Parts: sequence; C-alpha cells; structure tokens
Amino acid sequence: MQTDLFTLKIQYILHLFKHSNLNLYNRFLIKTTFSLFFIVLFLCKSYNILAQENNDFTTTSPIQFLSEYIRIPSVSGNENQAAYFLMQACEEKGLYIYKISDTIGSVNFAASLYSLDLKKPNIIFHNHMDVVPAGDSCNWNYPPYSGTIANGKVWGRGSLDNKGLAIIQLFTIEKFVDLASNKDLPYNVTIVCVSGEETGGFTGSAIVSENFKEIFNPVVVIGEGGAGMDNIAFLDKAKIFFGISITEKSSVWLKLSYNVQSAGHASIAGSDYAYKRLIKGLHKLIDEQQPMQITNEVKLMFSEAGKNIGGIKGFAFKNLDWKIFRPTLKKYVKKVPEFESMLCNTITVSSFGEIYETTNQTPMEAHATLDCRLLPGTSTNDMIDIIYKAINDSLLHISILKPSPPAYTSYPDFFFHKLSVSIKNIFHDAEVIPMLLPASTDNSYYRASGCPVFGLNPMIIEAKQMNSIHNFNEYIDIEDINNGILIFEDFLQSLLKPI
Ligand SMILES: [Zn+2]
Repeated sequence: MQTDLFTLKIQYILHLFKHSNLNLYNRFLIKTTFSLFFIVLFLCKSYNILAQENNDFTTTSPIQFLSEYIRIPSVSGNENQAAYFLMQACEEKGLYIYKISDTIGSVNFAASLYSLDLKKPNIIFHNHMDVVPAGDSCNWNYPPYSGTIANGKVWGRGSLDNKGLAIIQLFTIEKFVDLASNKDLPYNVTIVCVSGEETGGFTGSAIVSENFKEIFNPVVVIGEGGAGMDNIAFLDKAKIFFGISITEKSSVWLKLSYNVQSAGHASIAGSDYAYKRLIKGLHKLIDEQQPMQITNEVKLMFSEAGKNIGGIKGFAFKNLDWKIFRPTLKKYVKKVPEFESMLCNTITVSSFGEIYETTNQTPMEAHATLDCRLLPGTSTNDMIDIIYKAINDSLLHISILKPSPPAYTSYPDFFFHKLSVSIKNIFHDAEVIPMLLPASTDNSYYRASGCPVFGLNPMIIEAKQMNSIHNFNEYIDIEDINNGILIFEDFLQSLLKPI
C-alpha cells in the first residue's frame, strides 16, 4: 500500500516537471538529482530485501540468533533444517565447514578456524542440534517454538538443552576468525554439531566419533555437562560451585519379561500368572537400595569440594572412604537424591506392560522396561547379574533394549585447569570442582575414542531451570549467554597466543 502511494506522488512530480517552463540547465540539475535519488532508493531497497532473505548472521546478536534457532523445531530425527541454518551461519562467519554425514535425520558437521587438512592440534567444542518433543503447548507460558525473548530470558524448547550452548560456542569462536586468518595460531578450534543426542547418539556421535582422532586431531573436547550451581544441598550454600564433568553414568535400557503357560480368563487366573510374577519381581528390585560405591571419580570430586568447605564437614568430604563416615553417608544417600545418584547405580521402572483391549484376559507374556544408570566400573552385564540375583526367578528373562558405551573418565589436565581459571576470571567467588555427571550425554563416545572430554555449560543453572530441561517452560538467561561467551573467550585467549 505504501509503495503505491509513493509511486503516485513521484508520477505527480514528474507530471509537474514535464509541463513546467524551467530552462535547460535547471532541467538537467533536477533530472540528475532525481536519477541519483532513484539509484540510492534502488540500492537501499535491494539491500533490505537481501538482508531479509539471507539473514545477515555476521551482525545478528547471540540472543536474536538463539531465538531464531529455537524457532526451528528440530526434534530428534528432524534436524536437517536446524543443521543447515547453523551451517550457513558458520560459513558466513568465515569458518571452514566439514560435513561428516548429510542424510535426513543424520546431519553432522564441523566448523573450524582452520581447514582440518592442516592437522593442527584441535580444541573441540561439541553441541547437539536435536531437542526432545515439547509436549502439550498449553503447558508452556510462551509457545515452545517461539523463541520468545522476555524477562531477561530466551524461552523455548532447546534454549538450555542444547541450543544455547551452541550459540555460546559459535559466538566465541567467531571472535578469533580474523586473528586466525592473519596469524599462525598454535591450535585450531572446531565446533562439532551433531544430531540424535537425545535418542542415544546413534545418528550423531556414534558416527562422528569413528576415526575422530584421525580426522580432527583433537587435544580436548568440551561438551555439555556440568554447570555453575548455587544452593547445593550438601555444599556451602553461600558459594557458587562450577562442576566440570570428567565422567558420567552410562545409561542402559533393559526389558524384563515373564512368559508363563497359564494364559486364560482373568476370572480364573489362579495363583500364578505373568503380571503377578512381574509385579512381585519388580517389588523385590525397587525395594532394594543399591549399595554405595565410592568410585575414584567421586572421591576426587568430594575431596576437591572438601578443600573449599573446611571444618569437620570438609574433613569428612576429603576422607569420604573412611569407614567411620559410612553410616552418615548412608543417611545422606537415603535423604538426598543427588547423593544417591552419585554414589549408587540406579534402577528405575520406566514403563509397565501394554494396554490390552480385553481386560478379562491374562496374557502369557508380561513385561516392563527399566532405565538403569551405571557408575564408572559397572558394566551392562554386571547390572543384568544384579537384577537376576535380586529377583531370583527362573522364569525371568532380561534383554538389552539400548546398550551404552561404558563410562570412561578424563582426569583433570592442562585444559581442565585452563577452563577453571577462566571460570574464576569471570565469576571471582566461584569454586570449580571435577564432577561425576549423573546424567548421560554424548561425551562417552569421545572419551571411548581416547580423547580427554570435559562437560561444561558455562553458566549458572538454578534448580527451577534444571527442572525445565525436557519439561515445560525451558529457558536460558540472557546474562548467562553473555557470561558463557566471556568464559570461553577467556579460555581461548589464554591458549591461542600467536606463534
Ligand atoms: Zn543435551
């Protein structure tokens, strides 16, 4: 509408000009001015169209960019659009792109300061592009794929897990593109963006971690994992503790089945039928507290925390494996879920049987699925043995639904300490401790390939926010994005001193 009115006005001026009695020189001047005016107008309009269509990623702020990225609903198996969006931004920021796989639901790519062919020692940042489904959007304060920016936060599915981290990584590496093109820096820096993390990494990191060392020449991988937390139940509540994960529990999904020969009418089921056996077995299993195991990783974690706490509690933390502290520890395991998750294997019933159309029948087979989280040192077979022993029923059959790479550990090294220093440079009062992450991420794949891997979301995550992961009303604080970029920038700055 505005353009039509504008065109009419121009036609009217030209009409006046045509019928006026101006001399030739004045006509020339006016004609030139008009020509210039139209050239400028044309250029402005073309630029505008270009900016709208091509998304000028080099000038977009991290917050706007994250908001746009959230608007692409990249539920596992549907990552393509998100991948191409991110890839285009990386390319426009001057990074070298390397496609690892490029099929529907399995786009995996890397973006680096230098070409990977140079085989420079490589600092790798890792993120995943897929998200879990948003569930019923009525439960969200803002639509889950709106990327709404409000109250100092960016809202939406994936904002925290894991799109916010990708944006922090991307806008950090961008700051070193010019330096890398002018100087021969001692390290390459690469962002690896993968699909399928939320469904076990089979379409993502399982592929990417093959020949990982040969292709990327990594010196360290920094993926998702620990974060800054305050108000931790068993630590000094006045302090912020940043946990950098050095290992994590592996997750194994198992199916428990009972097959009995007494299927029939529910009215005369008798004393032994499939579901009764299953329920009895599960009761035995979930009523049994898994024994405490003080792994080397947990010992390290608590002794580092103990150094910062001091007093009797600090002393106890530093000597967690002393027998004298066992009874107190056991009490904590029962009371504090965080404690239990770090000191014990856990077994959770995640689904139970199926819904049958006819409820007056007892089926021959009954089954349940278990989500088991295993401490470093416990294998899938160990867990299967534990379950067989606990239930002790010859009719029980256990099968593996989803195996998981075993949990390896990356003990604190040069890069861990550099990360710690950078955290403290931005958060002056923070304490940094190596931690065992009770959840499972893709990091295990890269540790299994023999590479040191540390998990860090360089931000403070509050308890409420933690609950929003894989839940409704997921968000990330704008302040945390900015601080995250500062931490990673400080980290790279300390390592990328030109040769
Ligand atoms: Zn994640």
